[in-house]
Amino acid sequence: RTAAGDREIALAEEYGAHNYHPLPVVVREGIGARVTDVEGRTYLDFLAGYSALNFGHRHPALIEAARRQLDRVTLTSRAFHHDRFGPFCAALARLAGKEQVLPMNTGAEAVESGIKVARKWGYEVKGVPAGAATVIVAGGNFHGRTTTIVGFSDDPDARDGFGPFTPGFRRVPYGDAAAVAAAIDHTTVAVLVEPIQGEAGVLVPPQDYLPELRRLCSEHRVLLVLDEIQSGLGRTGRTFAAEHSGVVPDVYLLGKALGGGVVPVSAVVADRDVLGVLRPGQHGSTFGGNPLAAAVGRAVVELLSTGEFQRRAAELGEVLHGELTALTGRGVIAVRGRGLWAGVDIDPRLATGRQICEDLLAEGILVKDTHGSTIRLAPPLVVTEPEIRQAVAALARVLDRR
Ligand code: PLP
Repeated sequence: RTAAGDREIALAEEYGAHNYHPLPVVVREGIGARVTDVEGRTYLDFLAGYSALNFGHRHPALIEAARRQLDRVTLTSRAFHHDRFGPFCAALARLAGKEQVLPMNTGAEAVESGIKVARKWGYEVKGVPAGAATVIVAGGNFHGRTTTIVGFSDDPDARDGFGPFTPGFRRVPYGDAAAVAAAIDHTTVAVLVEPIQGEAGVLVPPQDYLPELRRLCSEHRVLLVLDEIQSGLGRTGRTFAAEHSGVVPDVYLLGKALGGGVVPVSAVVADRDVLGVLRPGQHGSTFGGNPLAAAVGRAVVELLSTGEFQRRAAELGEVLHGELTALTGRGVIAVRGRGLWAGVDIDPRLATGRQICEDLLAEGILVKDTHGSTIRLAPPLVVTEPEIRQAVAALARVLDRR
């Protein structure tokens, strides 16, 4: 690295809180699937902002939508109407096949909002006794970093030292529908899960898991709330990961790619009988659904409406998984995932996930480890087949050298 890169890192270390452990690269620019660092070195970005950059860096349609909006109005608050709000909500509702949208900003806010809506729905519609609502969640979950959310995580790093926590959550093993069935009672308002667990290492549940949760929720009048913040919006080869199992939840939680990597945009998407429990003054956000966010969010929905990105993710996902699976036994223990999304377990006798990520950085490939010796690959959906082969070849070289 040059002095320029060292200086940026030293400033970050001194003045930024140390709640992350970034790889030693200082990005200056990005376009499509590539970023360039302060020295002018170019890298393939195979993390894509944890799936916030599904359309790549600075997709022209998204930058154009943002630019046009920057020249008009960027914030009104929800105290007034603005002309981008309705069209965005309508377009997103249509994409999801639902009636209404509650726009927020970050993923964690969408999850918090979904929990609030489910509780209120439980009291007002289902008739759960006051203060008794419970939400069933899964072991290994990752839904964000707020106090309520980390309170029902089972990751010690996420929760230790941050209590006391919000009551009303029951955690059962992921992928185990029978455990959910056993946990449901008259106080249950929602089952909240990721259709594929991202942070846990791109864990794909058994094929009958989501259909079984759907059946249980319908039978017991419980909301099925799917956190598609990382799995949704094209990543797995479908608009929503749950489509692979033919499941439609009562509530979608969306974020990340909804803002196209340009602005934070998240949303709770559901029918009127669910979102209708919120009345004026009961929930809100100064920035939620702001004109800039709505303009970019609508452009994101337009990109997804063509089906092109979902198709790319499905077709190129076959290439990615085929190439990665060929490394099994050559330093790779297991490969999981769907579409352009893969969790790769590295043989822990060779290296940690972090060491592999550092080696790949030197090869010009950006990826990030999740837990221990698992690395996660999630390139932007604009990545090309040669770029995928290039990244996996780099991984093979890195493993061979170990
Ligand atoms: N839900 C899932 C499934 C996620 O992967 C994430 C982020 O990684 C979140 C929620 C939280 O999103 P944010 O970091 O925007 O709060």
